[in-house]
Amino acid sequence: MDTSKSKSGAAKVYLVGAGPGDLGLVTLRAKECIEQANVIVYDHLANPEMLSWAREDAEIIYAGKEAGKHVLKQDEINALLVTKAREGKQVVRLKGGDPFVFGRGAEEAGAIVDAGIAFEIVPGITSTIAGPAYAGIPVTHRGQNSHVTFFTGHEDPTKAQSSIDYAALTKLGGTQVMLMGVERIESIARQMMEQGARKDLPVALVRWATTGRQETLVGTLENIAKQVVDIGFEAPGVAVFGEVVSLRENLNWYEKRPLSGKRIVVTRTRKQASELSNQLRALGAEVVELPTIRIEPPTELREFAELVQDAHSYDWIIFTSPNGVEAFFEMFFKLYDDVREIGASRIAAIGPATAQRVKDYHVHVDLQPAEFVAEAIVREFIKQGGLENLRILIARAEKARDVLPKKLSGLGAIVDEGFAYRTVPETRDATGARRRLLEEGADLITFTSSSTVENFLALGVPWPKGMQVASIGPITSKTARDHGLKIGVEARRHDVEGLVEAIRNFFAKDRNG
Ligand code: SAH
Repeated sequence: MDTSKSKSGAAKVYLVGAGPGDLGLVTLRAKECIEQANVIVYDHLANPEMLSWAREDAEIIYAGKEAGKHVLKQDEINALLVTKAREGKQVVRLKGGDPFVFGRGAEEAGAIVDAGIAFEIVPGITSTIAGPAYAGIPVTHRGQNSHVTFFTGHEDPTKAQSSIDYAALTKLGGTQVMLMGVERIESIARQMMEQGARKDLPVALVRWATTGRQETLVGTLENIAKQVVDIGFEAPGVAVFGEVVSLRENLNWYEKRPLSGKRIVVTRTRKQASELSNQLRALGAEVVELPTIRIEPPTELREFAELVQDAHSYDWIIFTSPNGVEAFFEMFFKLYDDVREIGASRIAAIGPATAQRVKDYHVHVDLQPAEFVAEAIVREFIKQGGLENLRILIARAEKARDVLPKKLSGLGAIVDEGFAYRTVPETRDATGARRRLLEEGADLITFTSSSTVENFLALGVPWPKGMQVASIGPITSKTARDHGLKIGVEARRHDVEGLVEAIRNFFAKDRNG
């Protein structure tokens, strides 16, 4: 089966709004489209974290478009979408905010229509409204304005004359929201004043709105441009002109959360990372999820297949990790189409997550030692009447500790080790996390076990300047220190909640001087 194509084979392009940046501001429909896509073409302003929802085999293409740094030109993007769709693929074109608000979405849709290809539009939450909202500025407020205008500060450079009628804009009043104009704020504010706008009209600029890097600058028409230069305020930003800006004084909320403005690295495999990431994000941190390891098939796959084929001939099958369970059953169901082929073999699982994974396959767990270590399983077997001549298969990772097989054979069992998978350093960078860490640095990195320390260091990423270490407990801290790292924060309670609490206190101290 060619899994690179959609099930239906129906070529289609989805123009999807990725929202303004906050992962929570993506529509359910957008998430669904990303999960199903064969090809994803994404923009500079689409939060790359959402690419982790994509299928493993999805082709992910960065189309760029940072001001002045276009990776692909617009007609190249249009052509790319058409070519990929013609290959019978489901193509998602991910665009920041809403695809039809200053996003050139209509041009792309036009090219797709011209090529006779089916398409859908998935509107997104636009930065024109969400940006101000996250700065505590409502774009409308009864009694203050009854209309809102969106305009662009960056027009098509090939146009001879500006089509923005500043006289009309100024006369219209209300709230004016401008995109793509941070660099031109001086001339725009000047033209508004020339047309008679009040010099003290409140103006706000919100950059990287709804992300962990959000910053807001508030001023007046007269002084905003100077402030932008003085503090080096840079794009991308949304500008709001109007009385509503003054409401921020009361309504500013997002920038006041305990971890606002902090960039924190979470290093774990994707599935496990989300709990820690979500808790940190909820407190306002910008989380960079950095996958450090990847699960790969074992070096000797054929050998493993033969052991799995004979699974029914064992008295016991022992699983030591959820990954081992997955690799085993994936192979098992390639060889057999009926779970009863496992015969009378009994199943032992070390740790609750491993046992749960076995149960997910609707297979009974016969033995689950109370403690989550290999030694405990040996004790259980002895309790159950010894191991003399029992045939045992252990499905495990390559290069795992060999205490378990040694002890079991020492007690008279006939043990086969099935190398089900291996862990390798993650070298791909699908979400661009590594690139962002290199370019933008981070305030803190979290380590939740010794292996997260080792796996991170094995990546060989240069240590970002000033990045502190938060450790879940003394064992992890010791590993980190052994590798020459300094511990900035150590959790008192050694779980995710404890770690988050410690990080929160750490930055609170920071904030209060
Ligand atoms: N379709 C997008 C706008 C694309 S034009 C939308 O609906 O939001 C690109 C401009 O959008 C940027 O130059 C900036 O002005 C604005 N923008 C997009 N995301 C932003 C964000 N998170 N913070 C501030 N401005 C943003």
